Amino acid sequence: MTAADRTSQPLTMGRWQITPLRDAFGPFLDAATVFPMLDASELTRLLDRHGESYADPSRTRLNVASQGYLIRRPGRTIIVDTCVGGPKPDRQPPMPGFVSRWLDQLEQAGVTVAEVDTVVTTHLHHDHVGWNTTLTPDGRLRPTFPNARYLLGRTEHGYLTSPAARAMLDRVGDYLTDSVTPIAEAGQLDLVDGDHQIDEGITYRLAPGHTPGHRIVEVTDGGRTALLVGDLVHHPLQIERPEISTAMCVAPAEAAATRVGLLGRAARDRALVLASHLLHPVRVRVRTGGFDYDVEASVASYGP
Ligand SMILES: [Zn+2]
Repeated sequence: MTAADRTSQPLTMGRWQITPLRDAFGPFLDAATVFPMLDASELTRLLDRHGESYADPSRTRLNVASQGYLIRRPGRTIIVDTCVGGPKPDRQPPMPGFVSRWLDQLEQAGVTVAEVDTVVTTHLHHDHVGWNTTLTPDGRLRPTFPNARYLLGRTEHGYLTSPAARAMLDRVGDYLTDSVTPIAEAGQLDLVDGDHQIDEGITYRLAPGHTPGHRIVEVTDGGRTALLVGDLVHHPLQIERPEISTAMCVAPAEAAATRVGLLGRAARDRALVLASHLLHPVRVRVRTGGFDYDVEASVASYGP
C-alpha cells in the first residue's frame, strides 16, 4: 500500500461507503490457461495494451487481486466475498506458503468480526468464500462472523452441491465442506431466489455465466451507482473485448452476454465497476465492439 492510498477515502455512494479489502495481489494466473481461445500473439498484444498493472513483464502471467468489499453505513456492516481465507484442515493454500492477512485488513478498516451483519457471496469459487469460516485451535471450523447472515443464491448453492460439481471439488479441494457447510450447520445461511434487496440502495442480482448462479451487488444511492461485478471481469482485456470469457467460466457464452449487458449499463449510468480481481475500480465508456475504461485511482483500500 502506498502513502497516497492511505490518505484516500472510501468510495461514497450516498449514505454508503465502499472499501476494498485485499487478500492478495500478484501474477497468480497463467494468461494462456485463462484465455485459451486467444492465440499467443493476440494475447500478448492485448496484455501489452493494458499494461503492467495487469500482467507481469513477460506477459505470460496475469496480475490479479483477490479482493472483497466492505459496504457500510451507520447501523449496517456488509461484506461482499471473503477471499482466499485462512488454514483449512484438509486443503493446502492455493499458492505455496500463502498466509492470509485479510482479517487484519478488516481490522485496519475499523471493523470487528462481531460487527458484520451480512456476508454476501458473488459465487461459489474457493477464492470468494475462504474467510467464511475460521479454524479453531481444536481443529473445527466455525463461522468467522458470529452475528452475520450469510447470503447465497439458491441456484449457486444447487450448482456446487450437485453431483456434477463433486469431481471439481475432489480436484481443487473441498471448499464446500470447509467454507459453506459450517455456515449452514450454524443456521447462518440464507438462500435467496431472484433479485434480492439487501437494504435500501443495495441489491443482490443474478448475473449468470461465470458460474450458473453468479451474482453481482449493486449499490445505488445519492445519484451514484457502483456495480460489484464479482468475476465477470478477470482482466481489462475483457472490457475492451467483452465477448471473451475465461476458461474458468462454466457457461462462457452466457458469461459474455451478461458482461456485455452489465458493462453497457455501467457506461450508460456512469456507474463504477468493481471487480473481484481488478486492482482498481473503473468507469467504462462504449466504443466500437467493446468498452474503454478509466481507472478510479484515489480509493482507500486495505491489503497487499
Ligand atoms: Zn474469483
